[in-house]
Amino acid sequence: MATSPIVDGLTFIPAMYYKATAEDTNPDCENYEQTFDLADLYSNNGTNILVQCGLCGQPMTVTSATILDPQPEYS
Ligand SMILES: [Zn+2]
Repeated sequence: MATSPIVDGLTFIPAMYYKATAEDTNPDCENYEQTFDLADLYSNNGTNILVQCGLCGQPMTVTSATILDPQPEYS
């Protein structure tokens, strides 16, 4: 399974939602070097995080993340 690269120093607690940003690093893509806001990125097990570019489909690099407090409740 593909996973998104995560910038150095950024860690995720498993099974939590984060407000995050991700950047497209595919030079062939129109979104190259653009940053996207993610309102509720789920951390899965803390490492298997995937943010895909809607255009090129490549995993985007997670560049920042802040844990949501309180956590959103989804059913
Ligand atoms: Zn892209």
